[in-house]
Amino acid sequence: MAHYMASIYGTEGDPIYCTFYHKIGACLHVDSCARKHVHPTYAPVVLLPNFYQPGSHHSQRVLDTLYENLFTELSLQYGEIKRIRICENESEHLAGNVYIQFRRSEDALKAVEALNNRYYDGRPVYAELSPVTNFEEAVCRQHEKGACRRGGNCNFMHLVHPTSALKRDLLRAQDAYLDERQRAPRSHRESRAQSPDRDMSSERGKDTPTAAEATPTMA
Ligand SMILES: [Zn+2]
Ligand SMILES: [Zn+2]
Repeated sequence: MAHYMASIYGTEGDPIYCTFYHKIGACLHVDSCARKHVHPTYAPVVLLPNFYQPGSHHSQRVLDTLYENLFTELSLQYGEIKRIRICENESEHLAGNVYIQFRRSEDALKAVEALNNRYYDGRPVYAELSPVTNFEEAVCRQHEKGACRRGGNCNFMHLVHPTSALKRDLLRAQDAYLDERQRAPRSHRESRAQSPDRDMSSERGKDTPTAAEATPTMA
């Protein structure tokens, strides 16, 4: 019985739990869904709903800036990031959703608590823990191949990707930072936490006053 319950949990055959909320962390019916949305209280993935606004400024540079700001800020402040996924769907429940997967659930929890008191680009940030565990199942395969016939209203994630070199550089910088922090004696570790690595915080508003006007920043 337990095995059967576990095997259908969150699938289309599940009569109680919503498959979309469970797999994608967002369901078209939101709170009026006939099936249950179980919001996790401990999970490694943070969702920032409607965070990326593709309609207003859809360019690779803007996307890259957003990705770099989020990655740098969240990795330094809360802990190791495994991946960030950004949606360009048009339907309200998925539009601009940003998913951040931390290596540790406790870091995700810290991030959610802190982010709910923050602003990005002048807008208040809303953050929640998300039940998504398998991004491959949540992503629309047709869209990844180039075209989805459901378009912007598809209920699977339509991702936009930052420049791959940027992604690689940030992951490497994070690895180097974590390595160094692990090797460093405690006193050094504490002082570094207060003055983030230049590489990982490149072009942040605080360092470059002129960039602050053009670049959205966390506040
Ligand atoms: Zn639902
Ligand atoms: Zn699709």
